[in-house]
Amino acid sequence: MSGSYVSEQVCNANYLVENISNTPNIKVIANTDVISCSGSTVLENITIKNTKTGEEKTVPAKALFIYIGTKPGTGWLNDIVLKDKKGFIITGSELMKDKTFHTFWKLDREPFLPETSVPGIFASGDVRFGALAGSSSAVGEGALAIRFVRKYLEEM
Ligand SMILES: Cc1cc2nc3c(=O)[nH]c(=O)nc-3n(C[C@H](O)[C@H](O)[C@H](O)COP(=O)(O)OP(=O)(O)OC[C@H]3O[C@@H](n4cnc5c(N)ncnc54)[C@H](O)[C@@H]3O)c2cc1C
Repeated sequence: MSGSYVSEQVCNANYLVENISNTPNIKVIANTDVISCSGSTVLENITIKNTKTGEEKTVPAKALFIYIGTKPGTGWLNDIVLKDKKGFIITGSELMKDKTFHTFWKLDREPFLPETSVPGIFASGDVRFGALAGSSSAVGEGALAIRFVRKYLEEM
């Protein structure tokens, strides 16, 4: 299952994009991959490649910040639960916004807050569509999910 949702994880990063754009001593180079790093004992240069023209350039660099963690590793779930286009898992009331909701949700009650499109399967933390994406939120969501797992088990 895969609905069309705008990932809030991406929207939440907009303030960073704006801050960077408004900082005069930061130069943004778009459509570019870092393809190699070099230096004798510490980083001295990075080689970058324009993904459109294929042009490669080696420029001096003292540091490299690698921004990881924005892609959810949910491929292994296949289509078992509803996800957005980027792979974030849809839960709770967000499920009800999907036009196919009534085709997959057969219970008399609404989905619990961290419940996926499959009753009894819960998601919490960064992997959940709309999550605040932070350590404390992830921990809190985990605790919340346990509460709803208990509730779900009481139904059985
Ligand atoms: C570069 C970076 C900097 C950050 N800085 C901060 C910060 O300063 N403050 C802050 O609050 N948050 C920060 N965060 C965000 C924070 O790390 C996350 O919000 C938090 O780790 C989310 O917790 P989680 O349990 O949802 O996911 P994760 O911490 O990603 O945990 C998911 C776990 O599931 C495992 N896993 C994945 N697939 C499978 C599978 N199929 N089977 C078994 N295990 C699997 C993974 O290996 C991983 O251990 C940062 C994140 C990044 C990437």
